[in-house]
Order: sequence, then structure tokens, then C-alpha cells
Amino acid sequence: MLYFNQLFNAILRLRGITKGLPIWHILVIVLLLGGSARPVSAQVKVYVDLSNSGFTDVEKATFGDGLKSKFAFLDATVEFTTAKPASGIFHTIVLDNKLVASDFGVTRGTESTVYRKKLTDGHWKSVFDTADKQMKSLVDTAAHEVAHQFLPGSGHNEKAKNEATKAKDANGNTYVRTVAGNEGNLPNGKPGLMARGSKVMPAETAEDEREFTEEEKDKIKDTVKRESSGENIQPKPGGKDKPPDKQTDIKFISGVSFDPERPSLGVMQPFPLDEADDWLDVRTTLSGNDIWDFGFVTSDNTFFRLAAAGVHSFFLGFEPGTVVDFAIRQIGFSDDQFLKMSAIGVVDLLRDPIPAAQSVDPRVTMDYFREIGFGFDLNADPSILEVRVSMNILHEDLDPGDGMAPMTTTIPEPNIVTLVLVGFAGIAASRRARRPALYRRHAS
Ligand SMILES: [Zn+2]
Repeated sequence: MLYFNQLFNAILRLRGITKGLPIWHILVIVLLLGGSARPVSAQVKVYVDLSNSGFTDVEKATFGDGLKSKFAFLDATVEFTTAKPASGIFHTIVLDNKLVASDFGVTRGTESTVYRKKLTDGHWKSVFDTADKQMKSLVDTAAHEVAHQFLPGSGHNEKAKNEATKAKDANGNTYVRTVAGNEGNLPNGKPGLMARGSKVMPAETAEDEREFTEEEKDKIKDTVKRESSGENIQPKPGGKDKPPDKQTDIKFISGVSFDPERPSLGVMQPFPLDEADDWLDVRTTLSGNDIWDFGFVTSDNTFFRLAAAGVHSFFLGFEPGTVVDFAIRQIGFSDDQFLKMSAIGVVDLLRDPIPAAQSVDPRVTMDYFREIGFGFDLNADPSILEVRVSMNILHEDLDPGDGMAPMTTTIPEPNIVTLVLVGFAGIAASRRARRPALYRRHAS
């Protein structure tokens, strides 16, 4: 079998002499010569770790049954177990009874933690005033966090609407929300389980009236199916073999955020409920991708799909500190056959700078950005990027320090010149009125 990398290098050389010829003409040859490994099927398991829950045996059973019932739509394709699997890839949900965390729950990779003391000792404790409400809320949050593990690319349901609701916390602060939009909720009007925490009233988590919406269920089912057929749905982004002087990896940086435990006086908008996780949420828009799946290069140097070809707008979530070499793959090709930013990418738009001092995880020393634009140069002409990507940080009011930066390992080379308004006047107009814009274009 011929390895795609070898062929890919050949493609790079060919690009010099095939200017104008779409690269998929060359990729067809790759398809004829290449092959792909068959994955091994596996039972998908969720390890429910209640060893530090402080639960009685009866409570453990109630929690386990409740969590399982939220995923009943999976028809037992996922096994929930309180016995830690001895081997293989599995998911973990931990119930912690020690910390009063700032979040109700968090998820990192294939492990989630839900904080029980948050309900009994946090600033919303007056809402969770019975054991029954606490149990229902823990199940609600646990279902949300476990689902994050099954939705590594696009966690939250951003269509979930805000409701016109009011609540008072234990510190006497009143919070008000207004209606915004009317899509993405359950038939009973409640936000689905994948609505982000800021759209869900604490009391709603304690009612047991929330399920996954049909759209959320479909997404989870799809990932579970892929995982059960042996696919690793939680790969780590990689980014090997990249030329050191090209800034084509995208780094995701979390920064200062709204602190729900210390709400500032007078802050009513946005509704300052706790976030259920600290990932960076990004609105992603693609063009020219009708035959290209969009994704990134994993640490195993394979392609991981984030969006199918033809999908032009979607949301992605990234862990703070993630550095991603984005990539595209033509429809029908295998995971080791792709084109990556570090080889043919150009970052050509950086907008809405954030001062380095606002960065938290990781701390950075240079400005970073709320919007970043890049593309894949398929025809060896960097002035025309056939597949274009734009990423915008969401929820900048809750997370004003969240941003992105092209991976900067060296001082910008002299061939990166700062230009103003080269082909981006239309997109730029609305935001330039608010903040100074910065455009960079690689001249090479
Ligand atoms: Zn979440």
C-alpha cells in the first residue's frame, strides 16, 4: 500500500506544474492506489464512578437509573456500569461530593465530573432545598456532561432559546432573562439537555422535565454508532511535520470570564448562570466545501471529521490550550488521505484582538483574536483559497477573554505583510466600527 504522505508530497511538487488543475483530479489517483484499515467494533461503555458521591446504596441506584433513562433512546447500545472497565476506551462520569466548584459539572475528553456540593453549598443552594431536587439536578447535569463526551466537535445546542424567567440566588441577587429566538427547545418549552448552562434555570435542572431534543439525540446516536464500530471519537489534535515558519495551526485560548460566584453588582445581561464547562465555543462558517469534509489532523496523523462536506455553518467546542492543524478530506476518501493547513493553508484574517493580559489558559504574551479566517490553497495560488473557513468566538459577554491565535512559534517573517481591506471589505464593515481590525496576509 502506498502511503498518502508520500503521494501528498508528490502532490505538493505537482502543484507547481499543475496550476489551475483542481487537486481532486490528482486525489482520484490516490484513491485508486490507497487503502484503509478496518476498525474493530467495540461495546461503548460509560463507567459511573460513585465511590466519592456520598450516596447511600439506594441513592446510587436512583442516580444510575436516572442517568440511564436520559439515554434510553440509545436502545442499550451504550452500557452504563459502576464497575470500571478493565481495558479499552470507555467514558467516565464521576460524582464528586467534596468540592464546591464554580461549575455544576465539567467534561474533559472522556471524563466528566458533576459536583454534588455545588447544589448544597453553592450560591443557588436555596433552589436545591430537597434531596429529590438535588438528585434530579445531578442526573440532569450528568446527562449533559456525558453527552459532551459523545459530541466532541459540537457540544452545545446553540439553538436553545432563553426564556423569560426570573430567579433569586442565596445571596439575594435577582437574575432575569429575556426571550431570544424560538428554536431548539423541547415540545414542553424547556431547553434540551444540551442547552448551555447559561440558558437553563437552576430550578429547571431540578424538575426532571428535560430530555435531549430529537436533533441532539440524532447527533449522539451518530457518534455512538461511529465509536461502536471502532472509531476513536476523542482524538487529540496533532500537527506534525509542519514547516516552522508557517503560522497555520490555530491555538484556542481561554481568558477572563464572568464569575457566577461573584456576580458584579448591576450585571443583569447576559443572564449570569454558571457555565457547564470551560471549553471555547466557536461559530464556524465554511465555503467552497461542497465536496470536502472538514476536520483536523490527530496526533496519530489521521483525519478527524468535524463537519461533513456541504455543511456550511456549525458550532465547535475546543478545550483551552488546544492547538489544531485543520484539514480537509474529499468525500469518500479514508482517514489517512487529507490535505492539511500546515501544508497548503493560509491564515489571512485576524480580527477583534484581545490583549494578552486577558489570557488565562494558556497565558500568552501576544494579542489573540475573537475571529480568525483561513483557507486551503488547492491550486498553488494563495490569493484564491478554494475552501475558506471563518471562526468566531461565541458568548463573548460571558467569556470576554476567549480567543484564538495562529500558532506563533517564531517572530512573524518579513513575508507576512499587514494589509488593510484586501477582499474583506464586506465582512469587515460591521465589526470594524467597534474595534480596530488587523489583517495579515501571507505573501508566499
Ligand atoms: Zn455544556
